[in-house]
Amino acid sequence: MIRAITGTKDILPNDVIKWTYLEQLVKEIFTNFNYKEIRTPIFEETQLFARGIGEETDIVGKEMYTFSDRSGTSLTLKPEMTASVVRAFIEHSLGKLQTLNKLFYISPMFRQEKPQAGRFRQFHQFGAEVLGSDSPLADAEVIIIAYRILVSLGLKDLRVKINSIGIPSARENYKTVLRNYLKDKLPDLTEESKVRFEKNILRIFDSKAENDIKIMQNAPIITDYLDEQSLSDFQVVKEALNSAGIPFEVDPSLVRGLDYYTKTTFEIVSGKVGSQSALCGGGRYDLLINELGGTDTPAVGFAAGIERILLACENENAFTPDDSSIDFYIVVIEKNLDKEAFRLSCLLRENRIITEIDYSARSVKAQMREANKFKAKFVLFIGGDEYKEGCFNIKNMETGDQKKVPINDISSICAMFNK
Ligand code: AMP
Repeated sequence: MIRAITGTKDILPNDVIKWTYLEQLVKEIFTNFNYKEIRTPIFEETQLFARGIGEETDIVGKEMYTFSDRSGTSLTLKPEMTASVVRAFIEHSLGKLQTLNKLFYISPMFRQEKPQAGRFRQFHQFGAEVLGSDSPLADAEVIIIAYRILVSLGLKDLRVKINSIGIPSARENYKTVLRNYLKDKLPDLTEESKVRFEKNILRIFDSKAENDIKIMQNAPIITDYLDEQSLSDFQVVKEALNSAGIPFEVDPSLVRGLDYYTKTTFEIVSGKVGSQSALCGGGRYDLLINELGGTDTPAVGFAAGIERILLACENENAFTPDDSSIDFYIVVIEKNLDKEAFRLSCLLRENRIITEIDYSARSVKAQMREANKFKAKFVLFIGGDEYKEGCFNIKNMETGDQKKVPINDISSICAMFNK
């Protein structure tokens, strides 16, 4: 038997209800903040991610799905969205059309990570990219949006962590200080952290090894080495979050390993999803657009993982989206009226009334069972004495009330649904 690829999963109809609920909520909240949706291709030239995300990152170094197409071009399934959005922003000169571009997306992503609970190889993210503002209020805005979406889903066990990693020169100073601090502790670090010491020292903060964590707890903190502007911007972010009533904590170890981040970084974690606790993460990336060949454009964004958010919702018994019910179930009492019943079902559907009908000539009892299974609001009977009188009998499944409606009076049926 052929099975789905490890790390991918089918989203079956019962789950799709949750996905569409979440996606609609995401769209609603982004629209509320005047963001416009952007969609980019599933694959891009490998170069884009190598340059945009950074060669030393785990994503580029070990996780990308990269392949050559028949013409020998190296392509990669997108592992994240920021680089793609920035590519589109530059390619279509979006910055010339509008000084501030507030964009959002919902899209599958691909990373060859070790699958575990909350970690997949094809997963889905929604997120935002705000291009063209250096205001720290824009940083606060994206954090507020991310938080509002999670809270609107009914999640409670959330922690918003924020930090500032400053401009590159401040960060370089800090890296030197950190290198000095770690120099004589190197033998005690894990092998992975030793490699990070050489290649991407800030990422040692991401180590999950107990001893590494202990060592990093006493490390100098980046906030003590920030430049004036980053410090005052960080202050504005904190004040804006306070004024919006968003609870947060400053976490100086939140450095995020990506080269293109500047100033604000943030993450929202859940206490209910085990070790893969980050539901979303983001920050400011003022250097990336220039790095990818565009004119200097300050930007900030975030990405949130849908699978993990749904897992958190499940574990917190958060939302129970109203699962689908139908408007009408047509019960065919006399088998020879099946064509008439079919014609009626088409008419109702044309009027946007959600209608189901049985095609397999089952007994009235079996059809009623189906109607209940689909949580039909009304059952319409075709046949019997009413039909001979030129009427349908319609039963309200909630109240049990029945009424007769003339066969050709579709408009009064539609009126029951305001359609
Ligand atoms: P990142 O782009 O790595 O900052 O990730 C942003 C969010 O995407 C994370 O907080 C997760 O919720 C989600 N995410 C990242 N990688 C995966 C993965 N392999 N499987 C499921 N969700 C993921």
